Amino acid sequence: MTRAYDALHWLRDLRDDELVVAEQTLPATAEAVIVGGGYMGGATALWLARAGMAAVLLERRGISTGASGRNAGFIAPGLDRPFSAAVAQLGQASALERLQYTRRGRDLALAVITELGIDCELEDCGGLTLASSDAEWQVLRDSGAALRAAGIPVETLERDDLAAHLHVPVPAVFRGALFNPETLLVSPAKINRAVIGEAERLGARVYTGTEVTALVEQPDGRLRVESSRGAILTRRVVLATNAWTPLLAGYLQGRIRPVRGQMLVTEPAPRAFRRGMSTNHGYEYWSQRHDGRIILGGARWAVPDRDEGYYAEEVNPTIQAALARFLFETFPSLAGTAIATRWAGIMGFSRDGYPFIGPLPGRPGIWVVAGFTGHGGPYSAIAGRTIAELLTRGRSDEPVHHFALDRALPEG
Ligand SMILES: Cc1cc2nc3c(=O)[nH]c(=O)nc-3n(C[C@H](O)[C@H](O)[C@H](O)COP(=O)(O)OP(=O)(O)OC[C@H]3O[C@@H](n4cnc5c(N)ncnc54)[C@H](O)[C@@H]3O)c2cc1C
Repeated sequence: MTRAYDALHWLRDLRDDELVVAEQTLPATAEAVIVGGGYMGGATALWLARAGMAAVLLERRGISTGASGRNAGFIAPGLDRPFSAAVAQLGQASALERLQYTRRGRDLALAVITELGIDCELEDCGGLTLASSDAEWQVLRDSGAALRAAGIPVETLERDDLAAHLHVPVPAVFRGALFNPETLLVSPAKINRAVIGEAERLGARVYTGTEVTALVEQPDGRLRVESSRGAILTRRVVLATNAWTPLLAGYLQGRIRPVRGQMLVTEPAPRAFRRGMSTNHGYEYWSQRHDGRIILGGARWAVPDRDEGYYAEEVNPTIQAALARFLFETFPSLAGTAIATRWAGIMGFSRDGYPFIGPLPGRPGIWVVAGFTGHGGPYSAIAGRTIAELLTRGRSDEPVHHFALDRALPEG
């Protein structure tokens, strides 16, 4: 029998009853309600529980059935664009503060994995960003120089150095690469589930199969969280709902937009790669895991609309064909490797490429942690800790002003 999430590589080992438990009764009240059972909702639940606040987490499907169970499994510290471009956009100090937040995020994710003993197929192998053109090579060299000057331990690799990082002949298209030794590869769903399990152990309550339909202010200042399975009264709501956040918080309409990403995974292949890999300005990203399977995503350029504006998690045949061509034409020795499954996931892109972490303007008691623009991995632990600090202490030492919901954004 085919199960709902059989195509999702990261959910393949999970039992149906682990994905959705629909028969529990919701509590009438809660100290805090978190909406969304992905990386961000899970981390928020954990850090709130560690601070002594037992939240109720509501997820409309199963844990990790959104982007957190559909991604490429990179935890790669860095921004949504090359560092040199971020410096040009924001200035050195601001770009560096944001980058360092993602590096602390990577370290915190690793600390959580270690502390909780999470078996998440972790590979602390570093990442290679390959230049597929002279223009991209120039950008990577500029970024490498700027990062090293800031004390970030990246290496710029000339074409001749690449052979040491690949187990296949170096394709002619690659000019050189930036090596980031801090990039991790993981099973995102295994982390997400373990983090949520720890939050539950500390008092959080998790209700899957529960869709939140509205947040309604009450005369006494509380919020009524209306859902497909009843309502909960609370003083604090955290929306960890990725691209779906504007559907519950109209303020974010036009600030976060859905962008679909396509992924495939092959059957086990002879060893070709041992780093997290990306190229073509981040459009293609892939890795080969312990079991020999290659997990590849990207190729949105293959369709005129770049697969933007869709909420349906549907496989796009044109993009999927482009992904396969990319893999087998760039690395001919892999030709003939069978593709095991294909899937799609929805990312929440913000207009300036940086996430939203903070209070929702004009709606007291509602907080948002969303808009990670295809790069939620390095934020997966730290953004939850930051929002939990804001809720329980009223402040955070993290540079939250960069992530304010009402910041000025470029025209979209
Ligand atoms: C194909 C693809 C590849 C990616 N690769 C990487 C990568 O390698 N590295 C990286 O850093 N990032 C990657 N990303 C991005 C990363 O997956 C996301 O940034 C991250 O998972 C976001 O986590 P989240 O918790 O905000 O969202 P999600 O995991 O999407 O969680 C949001 C949850 O909210 C639930 N929800 C929505 N509305 C409601 C409602 N009304 N009521 C109840 N529940 C609701 C959804 O069902 C969902 O489970 C990728 C994303 C995609 C799609």
